[in-house]
Amino acid sequence: MKKDMYEAVIGLEIHAQIALKSKMFCSCSSDSFDKEPNINTCPVCMGFPGQLPVINEEAVRKGVKASLALHCEVPPFSKFDRKNYFYPDLPKGFQISQYDQPLAVNGWIEVDACGTKKKVGITRLHLEDDAGKLTHIENGTLCDYNRCGIALMEIVSEPDMRSAAEAGAYARAMQTILRYTNSSDADMEKGMMRFDASVSIRPVGDLKLYPRAEIKNLNSFKSLENAIAYEIEKQTEMWEEGKPMNKDITVGWTDINGKTYFLRDKEGADDYRYFPEPDLPPVKITADFIEELRKDIPELPTEKFVRYTEQMEMSEAEATLISGNPDLARYFEEVAAISGDDKRATTFVSTILMAHLKKNVMEIAECKVTAQALADLIKMVNDGKISMNIAKGEVFEEMFEKGSDPAKIVKEKGLGQVSDEGELTKICEEVIAANSGSVADYRGGKAQALGFLVGQVMKETKGQANAQMVNDILKKLIG
Ligand SMILES: [Zn+2]
Repeated sequence: MKKDMYEAVIGLEIHAQIALKSKMFCSCSSDSFDKEPNINTCPVCMGFPGQLPVINEEAVRKGVKASLALHCEVPPFSKFDRKNYFYPDLPKGFQISQYDQPLAVNGWIEVDACGTKKKVGITRLHLEDDAGKLTHIENGTLCDYNRCGIALMEIVSEPDMRSAAEAGAYARAMQTILRYTNSSDADMEKGMMRFDASVSIRPVGDLKLYPRAEIKNLNSFKSLENAIAYEIEKQTEMWEEGKPMNKDITVGWTDINGKTYFLRDKEGADDYRYFPEPDLPPVKITADFIEELRKDIPELPTEKFVRYTEQMEMSEAEATLISGNPDLARYFEEVAAISGDDKRATTFVSTILMAHLKKNVMEIAECKVTAQALADLIKMVNDGKISMNIAKGEVFEEMFEKGSDPAKIVKEKGLGQVSDEGELTKICEEVIAANSGSVADYRGGKAQALGFLVGQVMKETKGQANAQMVNDILKKLIG
């Protein structure tokens, strides 16, 4: 049998930490990264008897905002439920989640996987609180409850993805949207965004859903894509051998082995004995509240992409790069607005600045070059004060390193562009005299010989000559 007789059916559950100062139902700090264990705890999040949880209103606002950006419907009424299970990372003995009436339903996002655009459906978005962190050591288990009670959004997709690459593209698009709406920082290194991926296989043309493996707790895009690719391969082989899975299972993944491993049969809703949370009121969302939040949603990456490519003449690669990062997009738009030159702003941000950031492993927020300074630099080039070569070379280097003002650097280093016609004519004459071969080539019809001569003049002037003037003077002299 051939592999293209089968297709993969993939759905993702994403847990994203809501960007908040405090936890979901108490006032403990939600900043748990790299903190001493158990300093952010209180009787509420530790599940002491008689303590009452209180809904963090900001969590609801951010959840609704994310839901609207994901094109979801937000029903007027939703409620919290207890999801019961016993495990040492959960001192309450249950998680507060939303079961049959989640915050939002029926959304979608557009995903670009390797150049192919596709809509992926969102089944639901609900709010819940996180569990603590267990560390297994030789003689026991260490419990850290700093994460316990932190507000999460769980976003469940439809099983609309067909490859590891599509799932990766969906997860990346989701991260960007959550960051744009400021609903989650979605920083995976800090555990703020995690994935569970459900994978099953079916014969092409068959619309039935077959038993699936749910891969738990993937915490990077790379693990997500590798684990899904592995599981697809494995289950396809089982189909080929005529022994597909006969029940839903839950599996884990380790990057080191590059394999999934069996954890348990998949738990169903019955296993959790859900019931409405008696200590919390239902969540009521009015149409006014939704409209207020809708106004607050910024232009999203897919919309920016369209505007950048259609109105600012960006290539798709440039538009993807800049629109994919809200901080970078904000910076770029400021540079473009101040300099009044979209094209040069694109070049500087997407190539020159990006190369420097990558080389230094820096984020745009850490960059010393302000949008104003970069716009000033572009204006100096456009006004003929410095050459593009000098601008993107020596001047930008120093701006990036020291955060200095471009005009000051140019003045101090004497890098101003040479636009003196007499001086340039003299140098051009010298270059012509020394390169008679190229001159003859140009006269004989080889247009590119002129480029060589311009290059020689630039070399003589250490890149400071006004390139357009050099071009004109050379043509006049030889032509
Ligand atoms: Zn607490």
